[in-house]
Amino acid sequence: MSSEFTASRTCFCVKERHKLRKIAITGGPGAGKSAILNLAKMEFCPHVALLPEAATILFSGGFWRDDSSHGRIVAQRAIFYVQKEMERFITMQKKFSLALCDRGTLDGLAYWPTGPKSFFESLKISRDKELSDYAAVIHLRTPPPENGYNKKNPMRTESATEAMVLDEKLEKAWKGHPNRFFIDSCESFSEKTEKALKILRSLIPTCCHSPGKWTP
Ligand SMILES: [Zn+2]
Ligand SMILES: [Zn+2]
Repeated sequence: MSSEFTASRTCFCVKERHKLRKIAITGGPGAGKSAILNLAKMEFCPHVALLPEAATILFSGGFWRDDSSHGRIVAQRAIFYVQKEMERFITMQKKFSLALCDRGTLDGLAYWPTGPKSFFESLKISRDKELSDYAAVIHLRTPPPENGYNKKNPMRTESATEAMVLDEKLEKAWKGHPNRFFIDSCESFSEKTEKALKILRSLIPTCCHSPGKWTP
């Protein structure tokens, strides 16, 4: 790894405190969520926090991946709490202007086996409150099978068709959010990232637009 990546960054922001806005990046598997998050890391100042995908943290750490109804509920509840606590920690620190979340709390609805009513009851949350918690939702559409969907990611177990179905469920899960952006799968990767970065730029204060300075 080059020293550039191991070095820490300082920031040119004039403000020491920012008002935090949270953004959920959602979409079916293979849509390029992680790649866009990584680009945002290079593009913006360190006051833009990146929250990793809770499901990946859990499943890559050995959390059971059981396909029974019970097994799926247990996993989704664990994912929800990991997500919530990450968001809580970033909010507590009071220095971040933006929290870019690799999936948000309502993503769980797409994976929950027993319907939305049971999801909200089990987690003791309301749709309206969760929706209002995110300043924006960016939905990256999953590419169709002939257009680049692959299973290179070892955490990815879905087939291309399942991935498309999930993408539609995710669209439903975030229905009603007043600030939703869809980025289509047929666009080239650079078009996708340019669009996503433009949206992100519009949601953070200008002081956080510059990537800051690398200090070796
Ligand atoms: Zn900054
Ligand atoms: Zn700033």
